[in-house]
Amino acid sequence: MERVRGPNCAKCVTKPCYRNPDAPRPSFCPANLYPHIFEKVREIYRSNEFVARIARIASIVEKEGYGVWPRLREIVEFAKRLGLKRLGLAFCIGLSEEARKVVEYLESQGFEVYSVCCKCGSIDKTELGLSEEQKLVPGTFEAICNPVAQALILNEVGTELNIVLGLCVGHDTLFTMFSRAPVTYLAVKDRVTGHNPLAAIYAMHYFRKRLFE
Ligand code: SF4
Repeated sequence: MERVRGPNCAKCVTKPCYRNPDAPRPSFCPANLYPHIFEKVREIYRSNEFVARIARIASIVEKEGYGVWPRLREIVEFAKRLGLKRLGLAFCIGLSEEARKVVEYLESQGFEVYSVCCKCGSIDKTELGLSEEQKLVPGTFEAICNPVAQALILNEVGTELNIVLGLCVGHDTLFTMFSRAPVTYLAVKDRVTGHNPLAAIYAMHYFRKRLFE
C-alpha cells in the first residue's frame, strides 16, 4: 500500500481526534508528526486573549446558529459578540449589487461599514507587466483587481474585521496577506457555479471534463 505523506487529514477516514482522542491515529496524522506544536498552540490560546476569544466565540456562534443562520447572520453574530464596530468589505466589482445589499444589512445591524471595490485605483493591467493580449478585452483600458489597495485602505480606516465578498482566486490571497484586521469570507468567486465552488465536487460527474481536460 502506498505510504501517505503527512500531514494529510483529508485521507484520514475515521478522524478519531474529534471524539475519541485515545484511539489509534494514522501515521500521517499531524498529531503524531508534530506533537511539539500542540503545547505551543495551547500557549497561544492561554496567552493571547484576542485569539482565545475569537476561538470561543466562533464555537458559540457555530452552536447557536447551527443549520439555521446563513453565513451572513453568523458573521454579524460573530462580530457583535466580539464587540466589533467597524467592518470592512472587500468586494469584487462583479458583485457590486450584492455588496450594496450586504452593506445595507450590516449597517442595519448597527455596524459602521467601509467597502472597497477590487478595481479601486484604476491601475491598468499593463502597468503590472501584462500584455494587451492578456486583457479580457485587448486594446482597452482594463484596471487590475487591486486587493493590495483594498487591504491597505481598510488598514488605514482601521476596520476591525474584514469581510471578503467574491474576490478572485489569487486576489483573495493578496488581500489576506495585506489585511491588518482579521479576515472572514462571505463568498468566494466562482463564475461557473454561482459562487459555490463545491458544486464541482458534489456534481463531479458533470464537471469532470472541465476539471480534468
Ligand atoms: S488529526 Fe489525525 S486523527 Fe484527526 S483527522 Fe487528522 S489524521 Fe485523522
